[in-house]
Amino acid sequence: MSILVLGGAGYIGSHTVYELIDAGEDVVIADNLETGHIEAVHPKARFYKGDIRDRAFVDCVFDNEKIDAVIHFAANSLVGESMVDPLKYYDNNVNGTKVLLQSMVAHGIDKIVFSSTAATYGEPEKIPIEETDKTEPTNTYGETKLSMEKMFKWTAKAHGLRFVSLRYFNACGAHKSGEIGEAHSPETHLIPLILQVPNNQREFISVFGDDYDTKDGTCIRDYIHVTDLAQAHILAVKYLMAGNESNIFNLGNGVGFTVQEVIETARKVTGHPIPAKIEGRRAGDPAQLVASSVKARTILGWNPEHADLEEIIASAWKWHKAHPHGYAK
Ligand code: UDP
Repeated sequence: MSILVLGGAGYIGSHTVYELIDAGEDVVIADNLETGHIEAVHPKARFYKGDIRDRAFVDCVFDNEKIDAVIHFAANSLVGESMVDPLKYYDNNVNGTKVLLQSMVAHGIDKIVFSSTAATYGEPEKIPIEETDKTEPTNTYGETKLSMEKMFKWTAKAHGLRFVSLRYFNACGAHKSGEIGEAHSPETHLIPLILQVPNNQREFISVFGDDYDTKDGTCIRDYIHVTDLAQAHILAVKYLMAGNESNIFNLGNGVGFTVQEVIETARKVTGHPIPAKIEGRRAGDPAQLVASSVKARTILGWNPEHADLEEIIASAWKWHKAHPHGYAK
């Protein structure tokens, strides 16, 4: 089958492309390279550079290629930035998805797997979080992803399209080959920031708050390996190909680790003391985010293979050690 991966030069997108190609699928990538990297584009994928807000560009990809299903990663994803520049997020995430859907409907393309987020829930009602729990995002990023999910829902009803929305918890780790990995600028995520210390790029890691109601006072998150996320996208495409109905799934390991536990594991993996400095809380951080992924396991048959935190951090370390500046030479 031919799969169009929008945002296939980004972190989770590029890992999904690698898994699709390993599985023998034909892959087309479209990416505007605003946050993605040309070096992350798999050499066996056909690449189109352009923006999903550009209707003529999206039409051109669908006119040139015979696409069976779309996987949509093309969005901005920084929580902090989304709070200072909300309209950028509405424009790229919501408006971009609107243009994409208009083009899909016009071309009769009716299957899409969508990259959503735990940020759609906001402050959780209970742990672990289930897909039926209330969605009340506490930041613009999560709000735009929820708007995108709703746009899929109503477009599906009107035009017979089907979608799978995958709500990720904390994506981390890197491809086993060491060829692709996480490279954000600016970097805001915990594991890559911790690894900047043993990479001699930062003197210490800041811990944002140690007065939460958790076992050591630091925030708890559910860290999920990017390759396991990638596999879930392939299962979701197969699920739609088999004629199943639209659906929403959480993707996480169902196990939470505190910030201190993540730092301690990174010390063990790297053999570096990694000094940590306690700082104030970061605005909008819930104390705990842990997924129930029972639904994805039961319905999609998803079974994360790299759930061990040490293994996850070791794979990230392999990438960051060899590429201290990401894809930049
Ligand atoms: N965090 C931290 N120091 C940092 C970056 C993050 O203590 O330099 C904490 C953050 O407050 C959160 C957890 O690490 O509790 C994971 O943050 P990240 O930004 O990686 O992911 P998020 O949970 O925001 O999606």
